[in-house]
Amino acid sequence: MADERAGRIAEFIGPLRVKPGSKVDLGRDFDPRYKAGLKKREGAELLRTGVSLLAEYQQRLAAQSTYGVLLCLQALDAGGKDGTIRHVMSGVNPQGVRVSSFKVPSAEELDHDYLWRYAHRLPARGEIAIFNRSHYEEVLVVRVHPENLVRQQLPDPARGPGVWDRRYQEINNWERYLTDNGFKVVKIFLNLSKEEQRLRFMKRIDLPEKNWKFSAADVRERRWWDDYQQAFSEMLSATSTTWAPWYVVPADRKWFARICAAAVLGHTLMDIDPQYPDVGEQARNDLLAAKRELEQEAPAGAPADPYAARHPATARAAEGKDTPTGGGRASGAGRQEKRKRG
Ligand code: AMP
Ligand code: MG
Repeated sequence: MADERAGRIAEFIGPLRVKPGSKVDLGRDFDPRYKAGLKKREGAELLRTGVSLLAEYQQRLAAQSTYGVLLCLQALDAGGKDGTIRHVMSGVNPQGVRVSSFKVPSAEELDHDYLWRYAHRLPARGEIAIFNRSHYEEVLVVRVHPENLVRQQLPDPARGPGVWDRRYQEINNWERYLTDNGFKVVKIFLNLSKEEQRLRFMKRIDLPEKNWKFSAADVRERRWWDDYQQAFSEMLSATSTTWAPWYVVPADRKWFARICAAAVLGHTLMDIDPQYPDVGEQARNDLLAAKRELEQEAPAGAPADPYAARHPATARAAEGKDTPTGGGRASGAGRQEKRKRG
């Protein structure tokens, strides 16, 4: 991690990470109102910085096309998942991101193993995939409401008393497999207080333009608050691993939650440290041949290389590296050089 921003980000998200093997009690261990001593005013600037950092790294991730990233977002209703995605991803190229929202499973999905529908939505190499709700619903809503498990048509031995421990294990193994094959998994739980949820529900009821976001089922689900806190605590304890850690993000202040989410994703990308590919000797020679051909086509009075004429410094730097001037390759190499020096 050559980038000096990396250290600051790692320090910032340290208190949010669930230490692998630790036993989490959400209510005791994590404060939904924590804000690292920051003020909302300072937050706006930090988020802008985070968003542009994500854009930069996502471009490199896509160019390298070796690693993929899966970001899982979990929260109770009104926890801020949608808004977090909207803000945190606002600067990245939409072509490199794929967002999937998971709802009540369809009949077809229930006809398969429980990880099937999530496997379909995994990132390709070079992509960031975001799960808005994720495979963790399989140990959350399905656990709090066991009738969901009945609908999954499991054979008897697969739904016995050990089912949740087994699922934790299976999920850890699945994430390990993905990580070992170049797909980084990172998980965020937006930790909302019960009172803040009440306030956000009220807002959704009081403001007509928010009505569509509210359903009577949300209030019914709220009655299970304590069961959910328990299920979250157990899930965080069992599935925060060295290869796919959980981050508990304080969610009562939306602006702070967004900074944290950007920092967690940024940290993951910086850890990968993707590089623009070096095209290699043969391809560089092909580029030089193409360059000569294009130079021949210069109209009378036009410079042979109009790009180099406009950007002499970039062109000179590229020449110094024995790379052809002009075009995206040279500017890409120039960027990397700058980053290494910085
Ligand atoms: P929303 O995110 O508000 O659109 O709601 C999606 C709903 O789908 C929530 O009530 C979730 O609890 C529910 N849901 C998501 N995944 C599952 C699952 N695997 N089994 C049952 N319900 C689910
Ligand atoms: Mg909802």
